[in-house]
Amino acid sequence: MTDHKHESMSFREGVDLMVDRATLAAGLDPDAACVIKACDAVLQIKFPVRLRGSIQVFTGWWAVHSAHRLPAKGGLRFAPQVSQDETEGLSALMSYKCAIADIPFGGAKGGLVIDPAKYQIDELAEITRRFARELARRDLLNPATNVPAPDMGTSSREMAWIADTYKTLFPEDVNQDACVTGKPVSRGGIPGRTEAVGKGVQFALQEFFRHPEELEKAGLSDGLSGQRAVIQGLGNVGYHTAKYLSEEDQVKVIAIIERDGVVFSDDGLNVHDVRQHLAEHGELKGFQKAEYSPQGSEALELECDILIPAALESQIHAGNAMNIRASLIVEAANGPVTYEADEILQRRGVVILPDIYINAGGVTVSYFEWARNISHMRFGRLQRRYEELRGTSYLAALENMTGKEVPRDLRTEIVRGASELDLVRSGLDDTMRAAFQDIRDAMKHNANIHDYRTAAYVIAIQKLARSYYDMGLVNPPEE
Ligand code: NAD
Repeated sequence: MTDHKHESMSFREGVDLMVDRATLAAGLDPDAACVIKACDAVLQIKFPVRLRGSIQVFTGWWAVHSAHRLPAKGGLRFAPQVSQDETEGLSALMSYKCAIADIPFGGAKGGLVIDPAKYQIDELAEITRRFARELARRDLLNPATNVPAPDMGTSSREMAWIADTYKTLFPEDVNQDACVTGKPVSRGGIPGRTEAVGKGVQFALQEFFRHPEELEKAGLSDGLSGQRAVIQGLGNVGYHTAKYLSEEDQVKVIAIIERDGVVFSDDGLNVHDVRQHLAEHGELKGFQKAEYSPQGSEALELECDILIPAALESQIHAGNAMNIRASLIVEAANGPVTYEADEILQRRGVVILPDIYINAGGVTVSYFEWARNISHMRFGRLQRRYEELRGTSYLAALENMTGKEVPRDLRTEIVRGASELDLVRSGLDDTMRAAFQDIRDAMKHNANIHDYRTAAYVIAIQKLARSYYDMGLVNPPEE
């Protein structure tokens, strides 16, 4: 559960305070900050569904934080603790995230109060389709204006139901596939979307570890290999993050925290085995290959190099921030560190890679999917074979000129045209690297900025302020 008991403010208020801090650091007009912080529109929807012989009324929200660029984009969350405050706060994070990752979308978020584990698949389909109809008939599901994506409690399956509902309602819309992203590849999705957040976290960490002066700030040694990580949440984001970091970068995942507790092993866990156990049993308890403890949240305080909260917001709060012993916190989840905890951790010198940067891989690949749907053509279709021909010509020229044969493995690499997944990964890597460079530049050029979060917020609010200024809504931003 989201833990607000140690906090004096709500989730959305915490996000707003982060904007205020960045406004001060950037010397931005406070009036502009007021415009930026305001959530443009939020709709609460209550709708009935007949289930198991009786009527159940569900409550959901769609919040559009900013529509300066369209469509407004955001995840659709299915969870028991969803609230209007949380949905508005998360929609604001989406606006800032899109600005930092240079994605031409506004920020939005949807939520439905439901515990998906309590429903059968056909019941979930019925509820999701009904929610989608309610959104669509108010124009809050539309390829041009409002485009949801998966988030906590939803996946490509729910997105397929939503796309199908939209198609039934608007069969004449030629861009119908683009009404939602994160769809299965067979239903208009894009390869690489499911694992996009985890891959993005990996690319961001690889970039971070390319800069010794950044590592020094965190007191970390060179190289990702052998770093000891603790991960909270083994859902879509946590699993893919843990999988790629452990399998491809040799990061040692020493603890995985889930709802019912934690499994840990100093030698490093096999992420795939833990995930399989969780899928089969619905809990970590009983996992034979590591130690288990029901005290999950206490494991956030384990001594480690990298702590990756990848479950839900407000997990590191005023009540436990003093006890965190990680050198680096990587916010794969949205809002896992509260404003008050952030201030404490900063004072303690703990370095944080913030959510609005680190988990932007999801919306980045969603952007690719949306663009693919609008263009009605997969990426690389026109150039793949052409690239192969060019590669073959380069090889022939090289071998003619040198009189030597290029080794077989290099030959394959040079000749091979990029697949759609190669292009998606390349675009994602580029986005994560470029955004980190922007964050570093912001810190270099502004002596008031001492942490990555404030730097990321400064970039985001300056971009939003520029856009609002161009529309005549705020005073000119300082250059
Ligand atoms: P998910 O539903 O796939 O997984 C969430 C996991 O967290 C589940 O395994 C759940 O059991 C676990 N969990 C829930 N409460 C917990 C607790 N108290 N302690 C430990 N584990 C707990 O959701 P997801 O898509 O992986 O999203 C996780 C986070 O990442 C959310 O904050 C979400 O907003 C954010 N995010 C998701 C995406 C995306 O594309 N899916 C994109 C950006 C950010």
